[in-house]
Amino acid sequence: MTQQYINLDERLLKTYDASFSKHGVSGERLAERLTVLANIGLTEDEGAKRPGFSLLEREAKDRVIEWMKEAGLSISEDGAGNIFGRMEGKTPEKPAIMSGSHVDTVPNGGHFDGTIGVLSALEVAQAWKDTGYTPEKPYEVVIFTDEEGSRFNGGLTGSEAMVGDTDMEKTLKRRDYDDRLFGEVIQDVGLTVEGYSAAGRDLSEIETFVEVHIEQGKKLEKAELPTGIVTGIAGPYWLKVVFTGLAGHAGNTPMDDRKDALVAASAFIQRVSTLPRKINETAVATVGNLQVKPNGTNVIPGEVILFVDIRDIAFDSRTELVNKIIETGQDIQRQTGVTFAHQCVHDVPPVPIAKERQALLAESARRSGIKPYYLPSGAGHDAMIVGRHVPSAMLFVQSKKGISHNPEEWSELSDCVQTIHVLKDYIEQLQK
Ligand SMILES: [Zn+2]
Repeated sequence: MTQQYINLDERLLKTYDASFSKHGVSGERLAERLTVLANIGLTEDEGAKRPGFSLLEREAKDRVIEWMKEAGLSISEDGAGNIFGRMEGKTPEKPAIMSGSHVDTVPNGGHFDGTIGVLSALEVAQAWKDTGYTPEKPYEVVIFTDEEGSRFNGGLTGSEAMVGDTDMEKTLKRRDYDDRLFGEVIQDVGLTVEGYSAAGRDLSEIETFVEVHIEQGKKLEKAELPTGIVTGIAGPYWLKVVFTGLAGHAGNTPMDDRKDALVAASAFIQRVSTLPRKINETAVATVGNLQVKPNGTNVIPGEVILFVDIRDIAFDSRTELVNKIIETGQDIQRQTGVTFAHQCVHDVPPVPIAKERQALLAESARRSGIKPYYLPSGAGHDAMIVGRHVPSAMLFVQSKKGISHNPEEWSELSDCVQTIHVLKDYIEQLQK
């Protein structure tokens, strides 16, 4: 059997503008490190498979730990397997600036989601070491465990543990894709339930968190910009909807004597898709799951269960959208006689990013010769969890065609490195 290997660096360097390697930041080093991580858990499709709490995720963490040491960082690990590489500041008693992301992936994911955030944060530390700069405040590079949640169908597990938001009782009941319990799985990578329960950090030790992540959308590509400033992270609100009509024979029931749950649900879905635009530009609503009962070719649908995923970066506008969607269902009930019932089954509050943080990032972007561009994050990230407790900010790197969670995921090295310059400048601004 031939050993599979991906030459990510060759492809990355082909289009790289080496003039971006400056102020201690090295695109060549970044390309090399991305390649090392890409080859841990490489799939047949040249994608990445490093589930949370797997030995492959652990291996990726261990490689980053080696590089953290090279950058002069001192390493610590909490009971959830979150890794912290710390550079002491001139004033060590001050709270730290923290930056990082995750190295786990979805089952056939890409090579930039998560890793670019960890390696960007690390590149800042390495650049400081190489140029002899010591920050005023301590700086910590973090690798959060199991962000994607592909193993337990959850996610953001490590960051939740760090901020003390883990519901331990619920967590211990979770079973992974092999039907193994949480407490058993984490032993694979040397963690224990006791240690996990005690993983929370004293959050007064952290002044602020900033995460670099790929956009996973097409806005920056359309704007032809390497990087963008995230205005807020949209939390999902899931509304379970049940339309109950009357099942009947498709042949024997006249058209005007029907209560067709699927016809009502279709009208609902159609109208839901027009509502976010009436609220603002950042709100979105999606029906991606539909169950038709009894689901027979010659039976009028008697019941339809569907789920609406509703998101926005601000709580008030998201609530407004949820209410409009419910009113729409009630209106359809009045018009069709099909009963509409609804229930919230999942509610993660959105995390807005403070205007002052965005303004600082904009200054850093301008200083790096990049026009500030603002965009919301539709997906959840570790910064969303940390941001509930610690002021946080995010930078997005341009993603090619917006493709993500897929081996085709791609970001140009020049875009990655330009984003690191903005990150570095931002963290340096915070030293004052
Ligand atoms: Zn990610």
